[in-house]
Amino acid sequence: MNRVETKRARVLVVNDDPSSVHALMEILKVHYEVSVATDGERVVEICERIRPDLVLLDIVLPGLDGYGVCRRLKSNPATCEIPVIFFTARESIDDQIKGLEAGAVDFITAPVHAPLVLARARTHIALKHHADRLRELALTDMLTGVANRRCFEDRLKSEWRRCRRNRSPIALIMIDIDDFKQYNDAYGHQAGDHCLARVSSAMKHTLRRPGDLLSRYGGEEFVCLLPETGLGQAMRRAEELGRSVENLGIPHPHSAAGPVVTVSRGVAALVPSAEIRPRELVRAADAMLYAAKRAGRNRTMCGPVDLTAGQTA
Ligand code: GH3
Ligand code: MG
Ligand code: MG
Repeated sequence: MNRVETKRARVLVVNDDPSSVHALMEILKVHYEVSVATDGERVVEICERIRPDLVLLDIVLPGLDGYGVCRRLKSNPATCEIPVIFFTARESIDDQIKGLEAGAVDFITAPVHAPLVLARARTHIALKHHADRLRELALTDMLTGVANRRCFEDRLKSEWRRCRRNRSPIALIMIDIDDFKQYNDAYGHQAGDHCLARVSSAMKHTLRRPGDLLSRYGGEEFVCLLPETGLGQAMRRAEELGRSVENLGIPHPHSAAGPVVTVSRGVAALVPSAEIRPRELVRAADAMLYAAKRAGRNRTMCGPVDLTAGQTA
């Protein structure tokens, strides 16, 4: 078993009544890491920070009530997957309907019964872990373990919007292994697969910031998404990516670019605006990648984004 599997799940109890908090803590702490919040206004912020696997939410809270907190959690992409169970002294059908409509998965009514609380917590935490795993698989490339193209497309859209709001630049590096057909021809497809995995792992280790994303774009092509990054910085990062692959020293005597496996890099960056679409940034980085290929491979090329290129597409 690895460390992730043995890690205890985290439950956030949101309740301003000390005796209820104490009772829930005593029940839950045997199996889970338990955090407590007493103020509904701060729950989204706390969830973004501690990433609980379950929220036990009181309906009656000072300020924003439980329904409002639940709606906020469900409308925020960073917290919408966290299951919410309402903890309540009320048990009218109307209250339950209101809670379910706000996005809760279940109810626990006071006074608490330990086996019932634990059974409900266990079920919803297991379902969440299952959903997390499926989501992760849907966004991961099986061969290399880096993000897949779908993940890239999703993140490009969201980072594009964020950079547009902040008026900050966003950069892409398109990457393609040099003469990879020759590598497969010389060593076989399995060795080619192994090489792809090593190359992507080396490149992934050069990433520094949590928002940076390396993904497999297709075949032996990768793309690196760098939010909040201008052209000069992206060029330096592309050089690091190139060096990380060359430094693996994987022999490739049939490459025109050198004695070892190398990659070509195309870089483009811009500050997103209403007039331009994300695919034009992809197109620009791709054009630069092909310029790098034409110029002799194993190098980085960059150029301006042609704002008229996408208008006819
Ligand atoms: P260039 O330097 O111009 O990029 O030359 P290249 O040979 O790398 O480019 P080309 O597009 O002609 O060939 C790409 C090769 O990548 C062909 C294909 O067999 C190989 N390839 C693509 N995906 C995989 C994969 O998943 N595993 C393996 N082993 N090979 C792959
Ligand atoms: Mg290639
Ligand atoms: Mg290619």
